[in-house]
Amino acid sequence: MKDKCQKYEGLFVFSDEATLEAHIKECPDCRAEHEKMSKVSELLQEVKPYYIAQRKKKAQMKIACAISFMFLSGTVLGLVNLNPDISDTLRYGTVLEAQDYGFPVDDYGFLLVE
Ligand SMILES: [Zn+2]
Repeated sequence: MKDKCQKYEGLFVFSDEATLEAHIKECPDCRAEHEKMSKVSELLQEVKPYYIAQRKKKAQMKIACAISFMFLSGTVLGLVNLNPDISDTLRYGTVLEAQDYGFPVDDYGFLLVE
């Protein structure tokens, strides 16, 4: 029993196109292999745009989720006032310092602790 030609993969990877095609012409094993390969790569070419479209859709969904989460958390932040710096800046145009709250402060505006 004649072994199947094993040259195809080696030629495909390490040799140039002309050598590969020359071998394919005279070797039925590799011709069959090559046809199989080109069918697979044709198939890949066909499904590629579909996968890219799917991936784009997923990315758009992710962005949409991130944006709605940002809006949602922004609203929650405004309601419960978790970040006084931001709400102070919005309300008074500046971040309020300790002395603005009526606390005793030193010359640098730091809270005075006695
Ligand atoms: Zn061969």
